[in-house]
Amino acid sequence: MEKNKKILIVGAGPVGCVAAEVLSKKGFNINITESRNHIAGNCYDYKNKYGVLVHKYGPHYFRTKSKTLLTYLSKFTKWIPGDYNVNSFVNRDFYEFPINLNTINKFFKKKFSEKEAKKFIKSISIKPYKKKNFENYLKSKIGIELYEKFYKNYSIKQWGIDPRFLSESVAKRIPIRYNKQTSYINTKYKFMPKDGFTKMFGNMLLNKKINVKLKSNYKYSIDDHRYYDYILYTGPIDTFFNYKFGYLGWRSLRFKFETFKKNFKQHCLQINYPNDFNFTRTVEYKHVTKQRSKYTTISKEFPISKGKPYYPRSTVEDKKLLQKYIKERKKLETKGVYFAGRLAEYKYINTDEAIEIGLNVAKKILKKHKKNQKKNI
Ligand SMILES: Cc1cc2nc3c(=O)[nH]c(=O)nc-3n(C[C@H](O)[C@H](O)[C@H](O)COP(=O)(O)OP(=O)(O)OC[C@H]3O[C@@H](n4cnc5c(N)ncnc54)[C@H](O)[C@@H]3O)c2cc1C
Repeated sequence: MEKNKKILIVGAGPVGCVAAEVLSKKGFNINITESRNHIAGNCYDYKNKYGVLVHKYGPHYFRTKSKTLLTYLSKFTKWIPGDYNVNSFVNRDFYEFPINLNTINKFFKKKFSEKEAKKFIKSISIKPYKKKNFENYLKSKIGIELYEKFYKNYSIKQWGIDPRFLSESVAKRIPIRYNKQTSYINTKYKFMPKDGFTKMFGNMLLNKKINVKLKSNYKYSIDDHRYYDYILYTGPIDTFFNYKFGYLGWRSLRFKFETFKKNFKQHCLQINYPNDFNFTRTVEYKHVTKQRSKYTTISKEFPISKGKPYYPRSTVEDKKLLQKYIKERKKLETKGVYFAGRLAEYKYINTDEAIEIGLNVAKKILKKHKKNQKKNI
């Protein structure tokens, strides 16, 4: 047991909470410092003044392909099935999304079988293409019309740039199906924590060896090494280094929550609005939290260019800048400062990936600690 060893964790998001849970069990004393007034990072959910459970920083649909990860998390929460059903509002009508056989048949007013739909879509697809980008990839998969109605304007709103400048990988995140499967996500395990994400992450922090300080913004100082054996930083990497090479670019979001005194406001969890309004989607949480209430809340999501970091912009310049920060980061790792998570690594990750990262960085710290102990014998 590491009775007198102290670790500072900056950020009480998924990565910080998981690492704290693992390391506290090994006997380390953990201080978590969090700039917001709550834990759970961007997964934070809470009951609003109408008693409706909502997600403050955008809807979080939990999924994982790892049974081991699910088993680990089951120590901190019970689960409810994740029914993530999404529609797109196109040509004044609702279509199942991601595109599936029902979407294709309804859009083209056909009654195709799976095989016929594949053949038809192949006949309208644009292939081959030279430049790899979001637009060319999708046109090669579904043709021009579906691309323009379901993807093009949504992406322009979401990213604020021409989709020809977006990477293929963004398009590949959304499946294209020829069966009638409706779930938004293909991943094997789709569950929501029964009492919410905040409760699940809160349960990880119940160990007496963990001390959480909220509303406390951290700034690195060399003196910290006098008080802590290790530091785990999960905040933005450019902020840590005082932006000495410049600012990394992020796309931001503004949320507008609206509450109604009715059971449900919309017929499914999420409705995308690619071609109408200046918000991208509306989400009605009760569809997925299964909460019973005479009120219901929806959120509207407005992408904006300036504000809190949500999606890494990852332009060529951003990538170059990141490399400079990574070099600095590596130097500090030898001194026992670790960087992990979506802000510190400047990459989009889902919650299950953030949890894996939390587990892995805890392992890394333990390994380093064992090595240091051997050196001192
Ligand atoms: C709009 C949106 C929707 C998403 N939807 C899903 C989804 O449906 N399913 C899914 O699996 N994942 C989803 N995610 C991803 C999920 O939010 C992240 O994977 C997860 O939050 C990453 O955890 P983290 O600990 O790395 O970072 P965060 O959750 O951002 O936590 C980092 C914490 O560090 C704190 N912090 C930063 N700097 C400092 C500092 N200097 N001092 C003190 N504290 C600091 C921050 O306040 C924050 O609380 C979504 C993300 C976004 C943006």
